[in-house]
Amino acid sequence: MTKRILILAGDGIGPEVMAETRRVIAWFAKNRGFDVTLEDDLVGGASLAAFGVPITDAAMARAHAADAVLFGAVGGPQWDANPFDKKPERGLLRLRKEMQLFANLRPAICFPALVGASSLKPEIVSGLDIMIVRELTGGVYFGEPRGIEKLADGSRKAVDTQLYTTEEVRRIARVAFDLAARRKGIVHSAEKSNVMHTGVLWREEVTHIHKSEYPGATLHHILADNCAMQLLRNPKQFDVIVTDNLFGDILSDEAAMLTGSLGMLPSASLGARDPKTGRVPALYEPIHGSAPDIAGKGLANPVAAILSFAMCLRYSFGRGADADLLERAVADVLDQGYRTADIIEAGRTRSSTSQMGTAILEALSRAA
Ligand code: NAD
Repeated sequence: MTKRILILAGDGIGPEVMAETRRVIAWFAKNRGFDVTLEDDLVGGASLAAFGVPITDAAMARAHAADAVLFGAVGGPQWDANPFDKKPERGLLRLRKEMQLFANLRPAICFPALVGASSLKPEIVSGLDIMIVRELTGGVYFGEPRGIEKLADGSRKAVDTQLYTTEEVRRIARVAFDLAARRKGIVHSAEKSNVMHTGVLWREEVTHIHKSEYPGATLHHILADNCAMQLLRNPKQFDVIVTDNLFGDILSDEAAMLTGSLGMLPSASLGARDPKTGRVPALYEPIHGSAPDIAGKGLANPVAAILSFAMCLRYSFGRGADADLLERAVADVLDQGYRTADIIEAGRTRSSTSQMGTAILEALSRAA
């Protein structure tokens, strides 16, 4: 059956990295029988410029109807002073909220050729392959009450509420155990059950799901502060880390930097399976932003966007062998010495965005 992908390229380097991703999608359509139709729409500043909103209802409807959304990046200095509801990022937040994308998957993989780009010693990061599963729609970023209040004495009080329910914890735990089953089978669940009630609930519910549904997996509970420390001390002890929205925000950025560059890292955000259609709402995006400092110069690294498509092949379309092929092609190109500006080393020639894309297509054709 023909699959539908909606491309929301966005702003800055978004359209540049998505152009290379499009060439990769076309390669899979031509050479691997990947039956797909691509649609395009606007998001972020591009949508604000055309329609006055960061994403239109029509684009939202297309996102809901698509089998997967590929997102580039949004934002830029020209919109920094906009009121909150007219900020480009609101387009992405609306997509996450209305598609109910509660599970954010961020792999942190260290490619052998880039071991030197990490701030940690090569022996600590070489062969690193971690999957961080962050709860994305609950917790302290959304809990009520929240706000800033003026007090009688003229000072102010600010409140955020950390809130999790049984079902919110159980569904993200299932995502983590399902992923672990395809990997080394080890889940670390990170919380602060020593000082937070939500941490106690989190620990108990993850334990319940482990015992009742995934007894074959190995579960370790770890305090989030210790997890942050262990990621630097001995990151290779981890396979899958599952954690809440706030800790996940911080731990996934920390893990990302173990691998060297923002331009290399993909992500997936998944929702709950529709019991009628079997479809899982899904949005794939590089973790980097719109990089206005390098936009339009051919300097952007397209690998994060291309690896996001590899995740799309694996998680939305069940094409694990194709995803492996694409990931191996990226590793091959790095081994050959191709480097965009963000990962350049002394003595190497710098590749442009499109030269990197072309090298990946050539590596795919060699490997297929
Ligand atoms: P950024 O990720 O855009 O850039 C940070 C630095 O990394 C810059 O020096 C940039 O040149 C470099 N960089 C990023 N991606 C790269 C790539 N693929 N290849 C080579 N170099 C790359 O973060 P920022 O500068 O803090 O934010 C710029 C804009 O992007 C802001 O408007 C911000 O709000 C927005 N933003 C959007 C998203 C998103 O769309 N998901 C995420 C983060 C930031």
